[in-house]
Amino acid sequence: MPDFDVAVFGAGIAGTAIANEMRKRGQSVLIIDPNASEDAPGPPGALVNPATGRRAKLTWQAEKCYDALKEQIEDICVVTGRDDLIAETGVIRPAISESLAENFRDALTKYAWPEGWIEWLEEEEIRAMNPHVAENHGGIHVKSGYTVFVDHYQNAYRTYLRLKGVECIYETAQYQYDKENDQFVIQFVSGEQLTAGKVIMAIGYKIRDNADWSFLPLNFVKGQIVHFEAEEPLNWDHAISARGYSIRRGERELTVGSTYEHNFENLDISDKSYDQILKKLDLMLPKLTGKVRKISQMAGVRVTTQNRLPVIGEHPEIPNLFVYTGMNSKGFLFSHYVGQLLAEHILNGNEIPDELSVQRFSE
Ligand SMILES: Cc1cc2nc3c(=O)[nH]c(=O)nc-3n(C[C@H](O)[C@H](O)[C@H](O)COP(=O)(O)OP(=O)(O)OC[C@H]3O[C@@H](n4cnc5c(N)ncnc54)[C@H](O)[C@@H]3O)c2cc1C
Repeated sequence: MPDFDVAVFGAGIAGTAIANEMRKRGQSVLIIDPNASEDAPGPPGALVNPATGRRAKLTWQAEKCYDALKEQIEDICVVTGRDDLIAETGVIRPAISESLAENFRDALTKYAWPEGWIEWLEEEEIRAMNPHVAENHGGIHVKSGYTVFVDHYQNAYRTYLRLKGVECIYETAQYQYDKENDQFVIQFVSGEQLTAGKVIMAIGYKIRDNADWSFLPLNFVKGQIVHFEAEEPLNWDHAISARGYSIRRGERELTVGSTYEHNFENLDISDKSYDQILKKLDLMLPKLTGKVRKISQMAGVRVTTQNRLPVIGEHPEIPNLFVYTGMNSKGFLFSHYVGQLLAEHILNGNEIPDELSVQRFSE
């Protein structure tokens, strides 16, 4: 018998979700991440916004994704006693050009929005909600959108997993398939060795260094964000998404993002990206120009796919080795519903939808 039913590599958005979905189904779970802890730094804010892109398209399986994430967040809050993981403040998407306004108006009827998720706002209504917003042609109010305080969320999630009986080891480890015993041997740098019946790789962009999954046609897009403090208290709490996004935190802070850098050599922050982000802030909230001070900056990498959907499934040649990656720019929204689909596939043999399956690449 292996020590654990399943070992999950990566305690980020995908790893915590799939570790939890496996645990909920009675599996003994080990989660491994050399860069995580219950008190790790992380991005100050990210958005759950089901109205995506220039066309404000309703995201894939939006209602199921939304409900699964929300239910999980509520449970983490109950179990950990925290109430600082999200802010349900909605997202305003001002149309800063006429063509964008046309797209947004079309989106209201083109997609099957769940009741109460979205509404049109005229320019004066946007101005009444937030006089700082740039001139616009009206826009949409994604009432269902919300802010995730990522550092709080991820740390609380790891605490939650530990309290729920998941073994969390924050150390570097490697796996090796032991064919004879049909299990994986997990070798830690500390010298400790454990075994698991299954391995799930949820290691974000580091998947590109993993030889077993090199056949996946993934793309990697770097993004930088800036966290600012305003001179004056900011008297609105919604997020804004125009040609970038701004997310509120506390009385004066806002996170502004993000760049899309397809060619990059490292994850260093750069002045060029900072300048681009300042321009985004100026486009969205021109009255704040010159009235904010930079507190911190961060860069990360999105793992993207051609259909903008995650990749889940079993390795075509190594039994019991699975992957959960390709979260694109909607990692939060996808995380739990897609995690449920993967867990049901692994444990009950349920089919993975074609659009998510590893097989879309391996065949
Ligand atoms: C600038 C920027 C802004 C974004 N904004 C949003 C947003 O507003 N809303 C949204 O939903 N999404 C957003 N995203 C996308 C979101 O961050 C990703 O979709 C999400 O982080 C992907 O989750 P993941 O678990 O696959 O990877 P990650 O969150 O990167 O987690 C991977 C984890 O694996 C660990 N790891 C790496 N290698 C190993 C190894 N060998 N062994 C064990 N562990 C390992 C890492 O330490 C890390 O903790 C943004 C991304 C960027 C870059």
